[in-house]
Amino acid sequence: MLSHTEYHQLIEELDKSTLVAVSKRQEIDRLQLLYDYGHRDYGENRVQALVERHAELPRDIHWHLIGQLQRNKVKYIAEWIHLIHSVDSWKLLQEIDKQAAKHDRVIDFLFQIKISDEESKSGYDLSQLQSDLSTHDLSALHHVRCRGLMGMASFTQDEQQIRSEYQRLIEAKRELSQTELSECQSFTELSMGMSGDYKIAVEMGSTMVRIGSGVFGQRTY
Ligand SMILES: *Cc1c(COP(=O)(O)O)cnc(C)c1O
Repeated sequence: MLSHTEYHQLIEELDKSTLVAVSKRQEIDRLQLLYDYGHRDYGENRVQALVERHAELPRDIHWHLIGQLQRNKVKYIAEWIHLIHSVDSWKLLQEIDKQAAKHDRVIDFLFQIKISDEESKSGYDLSQLQSDLSTHDLSALHHVRCRGLMGMASFTQDEQQIRSEYQRLIEAKRELSQTELSECQSFTELSMGMSGDYKIAVEMGSTMVRIGSGVFGQRTY
């Protein structure tokens, strides 16, 4: 776990990129400690963990969902989720819109784009997203707001490969900004970078990094 000083060094190193502290499988005491350093953005990859921790920790935390979301679970987080990084289908987006409407709020989200060929990495195929954007009307969904894109690079030491995968995400954002999402003023975020590759991601223009073990240390369960 980072000391207070190391935490501030990391924040400085990240420059304008927002740190989402990935707290999955970390003891809750560590989240509380980071909270006491002044940190407010936390990410979890499971709905159940989000729900439990949201109930236990202070109300001013911004909770981010960074893992795959099943449609039938959107209702559990719709009232307070800050940002969903992992929208990978139109049906999911429609469900988020529907649940957000029930709470009379607008939920911010990112489209997760598949930029790695690793089977385990989920996300939208860019071509599928482009096709969905042309056949559906995003502006008809009044309770969601697209803030940008998220991508996960392959788990590799090969820096060139990581760079070329993040480059795909940057290109995707540029293409989408010129076309279907051109009217979306708030399409500014690029969620890319984890403990192993955040320096590369920040250098390439990431606006949000999702760092777990690099903040909290090894996951404890
Ligand atoms: C676990 C996870 C991270 C953080 O991983 P670390 O290697 O611990 O930094 C980032 N993004 C997603 C989607 C994750 O599931």
